[in-house]
Amino acid sequence: MVNYQCNASCRHCLYACSPARNSGYVNEETAEEICRLLQEGGCKSVHIGGGEPFLNFDGLLMMVRALNKSGIALDYIETNAFWAEDLANTKPALEKLKRLLAENADTLCISLDPFHAEYVPYGAALNLAKLCEKNGMRYFLWKQEFFSVLSRLDSQKTHSRQDMEKTLSTDYINKTVQHYGITYGGRAVNIEKEYKTLFPAENFAGDNSPCSNLLLTGHFHVDKDCNFIPPGCTGILIPLSEALRGINEDKYPVFASLYHGGISSLLEFVVQHGFSPDNAGYPSKCNLCFFIRKFLSEKDFAELDKNHYTEALKYYT
Ligand code: SF4
Ligand code: SF4
Repeated sequence: MVNYQCNASCRHCLYACSPARNSGYVNEETAEEICRLLQEGGCKSVHIGGGEPFLNFDGLLMMVRALNKSGIALDYIETNAFWAEDLANTKPALEKLKRLLAENADTLCISLDPFHAEYVPYGAALNLAKLCEKNGMRYFLWKQEFFSVLSRLDSQKTHSRQDMEKTLSTDYINKTVQHYGITYGGRAVNIEKEYKTLFPAENFAGDNSPCSNLLLTGHFHVDKDCNFIPPGCTGILIPLSEALRGINEDKYPVFASLYHGGISSLLEFVVQHGFSPDNAGYPSKCNLCFFIRKFLSEKDFAELDKNHYTEALKYYT
């Protein structure tokens, strides 16, 4: 993740990105450090995402070059295609494609779904796909299957939730989620709360299965500051060097509690800090975990990214 800032604020964004997020971008020194550590951990290939990576094109090129230098393969770069929106003037977008191809970055993952269509006209994704086809850049639309639903909307405009509920379906959010199979982390915690049945917090108190997925490395993310972000459990950050070489559990008690005793252990831990569960309840243990971590993030635990929790609860209407 080369940045946290994005031109969009999608309602399902796992990393709670938005225009208001820190505008910083990975710098050269950190990019090289990330590559070094990934190599040390045996990582052979990555994709680049954000935030929106194309908000700083020179920074993106620098990241691609750092990967090239390290020998780590680049599978694809993610983008919401905002930079290819102008149908009348495709020259700047074309220039970017050429410069990427010159650095051997040859595949884009282009977002296409009703959630992105609230912020970027989906015509931009189609426009970019056409430019890729004509200029030798490989691409895939994520997800192509949403095209038939979106084709009922004007491709040159963004569309509000109200628009889409009227034109697509009153249940389009739920249907989109089912089709995507999204993880209910980040801003998507709001979707889960809106559409799922809620249960009292005590219903989850007996679940002491360890969250061993916190250290899974099949598909994980590293942020612009060289932090390891566990797959699915966003809002938790551990420096990549420590995730790789050994975590000092005394330094990260929230992480350790979840890793060894799951939600049951976290509930016990948070009671000592004065947390009161919401009487309205929670749809899942992970949703409860999010709100407990949000509460704890106000108390400055090193492994909790305070901004993540506050930004995740913004923009969802
Ligand atoms: S899902 Fe992608 S485009 Fe949407 S806010 Fe997040 S980073 Fe930006
Ligand atoms: S309970 Fe928390 S740490 Fe465990 S899997 Fe769910 S979100 Fe991740």
